[in-house]
Amino acid sequence: MSNIGLYIHIPFCERKCNYCDFYSIKGDDDLHKKYVDKVINEIRYWKSNELYSNSVDTIYIGGGTPSVLGTNLLQKLLDEVTSNLNVDSNAEITIEVNPNSVSYIDLAQLKSSGLNRISMGLQSASNDELKLLGRLHSIQDAKNATEQFYKSGISNFSLDVMLGIPLQTPETLVQTLDFCINSNASHISTYMLKIEENTPFYKNTNNLIFADDDTMADLYELTCKKLADNGFRHYEISNFCKNNRISRHNMKYWVLEDYLGIGPSAHSLIGEKRFFYPRDIEEFNYKNIQFESKGKTPEEYIMLTLRTDEGFKFRKHKELFNLTVSKEFIKKAEEFEKLGLLNISRDAICLKEKGFLVSNAIISELLSTEIL
Ligand code: SF4
Repeated sequence: MSNIGLYIHIPFCERKCNYCDFYSIKGDDDLHKKYVDKVINEIRYWKSNELYSNSVDTIYIGGGTPSVLGTNLLQKLLDEVTSNLNVDSNAEITIEVNPNSVSYIDLAQLKSSGLNRISMGLQSASNDELKLLGRLHSIQDAKNATEQFYKSGISNFSLDVMLGIPLQTPETLVQTLDFCINSNASHISTYMLKIEENTPFYKNTNNLIFADDDTMADLYELTCKKLADNGFRHYEISNFCKNNRISRHNMKYWVLEDYLGIGPSAHSLIGEKRFFYPRDIEEFNYKNIQFESKGKTPEEYIMLTLRTDEGFKFRKHKELFNLTVSKEFIKKAEEFEKLGLLNISRDAICLKEKGFLVSNAIISELLSTEIL
């Protein structure tokens, strides 16, 4: 049995941001309490389910905005997980917060229940951009929040940064990256703004100027350079860390390791089984989980692992699928190697920094060959 990552989705937000398509609703104290009880029921169900692997080495409480639950409910949840499931003593335990709601929780108390990592939705260090995104916080809230992290003794924290915000310029992006660097974030996740249907941004596309592909590429390149110059390892296309403090939980998604997701819209992959809960809080119950027809595929393994700096590993691929990649695939990879976009070693194919910039094109070209 392998270790497993546990994801718990908290589907509540104080207000919907203008770009967001995640499943979340506005809750209240009563709903929060009932929801946590439901999650606890699910944890007990999974504990006794044959699909459940025997040890949890990462826990990620995401959302939504988990911090709106407040300290007591979050602590109840963490205590329930650690007392019911076999949680590794070295487990990475992350909670997502928003800058304005950090003040709702006592981080030191949660630390005593095992919390050791925080992921905060900063998005921008420009108040104008934050307002346009419909975020509830100001840059001062973000500053106060990072100070809180240190005060509570949690130095392993990640900040989310958005690229391609209308109004964003290279200068305001640098201001945001400087905020992250100066606050000593150990990890930075970047996201390119995508306009999703059914969001206020989608309905407003005529009135806002969104970044085109070239602008987005320039912003991404600037980010990679700035963070490299400041000692960050670019360990995944969109993720950067210091002192090798990668997101161990998210790494499981990129290397197809097992994870169990609990909550409306949460997905799981355990062994060859892939399944998910419906995107509806009323339907959130193990009796309603839906299984997908496909488990892990070789193509998916190649596509996801090439996103990481450790790359696509031949031996792991063989172990997972008992397959060897074709000569045609290697020949195609060699063409990219000659262009300086990737490295091929005895053990792996890894994209180089220049290759990350055009990763979509490289991966789709590689996958268009007869890969096996
Ligand atoms: S806080 Fe996060 S999950 Fe909630 S609406 Fe905003 S972006 Fe979406």
